[in-house]
Amino acid sequence: KILMALVLGYTFDKNKISSTTYLPNNETITSLMKKLKLDGDLSFHNIHHASKDFGNIYRFLPLAVLYPKSVSDISTLVTYMFQMGPTSELTIAPRGHGHSLEGQAQAHQGVVINMESLAQSQEMRFHINANTNTPFVDVSAGELWINILHESLKRGFSPKSWTDYLHLTVGGTLSNAGISGQAFRHGPQINNVYQLQVVTGTGEVVTCTEETNSDLFHGLLGGLGQFGIITRAHISLEPAPEMVKWIKVLYLDFATFTKDQEQLISSNSSFDYVEGFVLINRTGLLNNWRSSFKNKDPVQPRQFVSEGKTIFCLEIAKYFKQEDIHTIDQKVESLLSKLNYNEFTLFISEVSYVDFLDRVHVSELKLKEKGLWDVPHPWLNLLVPKSKIHKFADEVFGKILTDTSNGPILIYPVDKSRWNTKTSMVTPKENVFYLVAFLSSAMPSSTGSDSLENILSQNKKILEVCETANLETKQYLPHYNTQEEWKKHFGSQWEVFARRKFMYDPLAILTPGQRIFQKSV
Ligand code: FAD
Repeated sequence: KILMALVLGYTFDKNKISSTTYLPNNETITSLMKKLKLDGDLSFHNIHHASKDFGNIYRFLPLAVLYPKSVSDISTLVTYMFQMGPTSELTIAPRGHGHSLEGQAQAHQGVVINMESLAQSQEMRFHINANTNTPFVDVSAGELWINILHESLKRGFSPKSWTDYLHLTVGGTLSNAGISGQAFRHGPQINNVYQLQVVTGTGEVVTCTEETNSDLFHGLLGGLGQFGIITRAHISLEPAPEMVKWIKVLYLDFATFTKDQEQLISSNSSFDYVEGFVLINRTGLLNNWRSSFKNKDPVQPRQFVSEGKTIFCLEIAKYFKQEDIHTIDQKVESLLSKLNYNEFTLFISEVSYVDFLDRVHVSELKLKEKGLWDVPHPWLNLLVPKSKIHKFADEVFGKILTDTSNGPILIYPVDKSRWNTKTSMVTPKENVFYLVAFLSSAMPSSTGSDSLENILSQNKKILEVCETANLETKQYLPHYNTQEEWKKHFGSQWEVFARRKFMYDPLAILTPGQRIFQKSV
């Protein structure tokens, strides 16, 4: 009980930001660690990349980085830390592709495990599930989704549920949820996993499924890395499409836009991907689209000059195979005829399935060229119940946010009625809720509206309005500084979450960057 209280009584100390040098406070532990028998390397020098992430806001330098070559390397390190007992402050953080936003994959003065190194020494294996007779791929948790896509396509298959960006690892997205425009049909990525292999916080290697060690299985999915280091996963596959009709249409009226989105996600014979975004006071965007998308109508939509306006873009996609080339247009037209977008704003393009799924990588390359990829990313992701989305839009779009020049704002509904609700993922109570993602980039030396300070203050205002207007929103990719805030976030799920922590990582060794539990020293 004392241990439990220590683990749970945690408040994050914001001032504990590391400098670039670190003198270990327990040299004995460090020198013993150097003697561990490993297939891979434990480096005390090649560590600086592990103090950075995509968010580019938090930087915590670890003491060492483990580059594992086997699951046993990970188990050896965790077992060693566990056997040290609560005498050492050292923690361990698995790092996928480091695309966290607020230091979640960092370990201040601890050991970061480079999961991509494990993936380099593990194979991808393709199988058929004996119970369901469906295909799946058995992959290393450090594998990037883009690599899984390419390997699966060679065999005519594809995972079903994605994120908008594929240069993320399996372990990283499964520890959150993995939500994109396919989630309305297949659920998030955590709904499309049959089996996990994991090293728990005691160093034990466990295999878990919906039936075997199911408590751990559910805990790990959306578990923010708290209960174990996922080392392998079985991901469900389906026959792969080849081509995609990729469509954007515009609305001036929010109610019509959301009605269409909700109708699309409630139908089984609908598009394969449904997302959307908000454009406030954007200049020249439609002209950019015209160059890459075919505007179906030659009329230039004067009424859609976007300057000074809030407009809503529905983004949808229909997958098809080459053999459907003669019927696909008719199918798409029939689906579009049920929607109420502005008739002059139909933008259609036809791209390969890979190009569609890997679309954000194209923007990444362009931004990298301009030096705009490695800037701070003060992102805010919210899950807003359907019944509150209009109030949310009234309060935020055009009021708190007067333009969207700092980055895209995604907005699309999902329906969790067919999702596995036993996972650790926290969602609003209502079955249908919207993902609203404010994906801002801050300019490092700016003091204007695109400064980090300004965007963070805008995010704070949005969170405050959710609170004061009682919008019952939940954060996705959540970030809090105190355990009280985490308890509020988890609500009735907190007890189970804390019990699992005590059971699978009793010393709170794992994933300190989430700032939920403190190692019990
Ligand atoms: P990391 O940042 O390395 O790790 C994330 C967390 O998981 C950390 O706490 C880490 O310690 C833990 N972790 C990592 N590996 C493991 C493991 N093997 N076992 C246990 N814990 C582990 N998310 C969506 O849902 N939908 C999107 O469409 C989407 N688009 C994105 C687009 C971009 C450009 C970016 C940068 C992020 C996007 N995300 C999206 C968020 C993304 O899913 C998360 O940030 C994810 O955690 C990143 O994966 P990663 O491999 O970089 O993980």
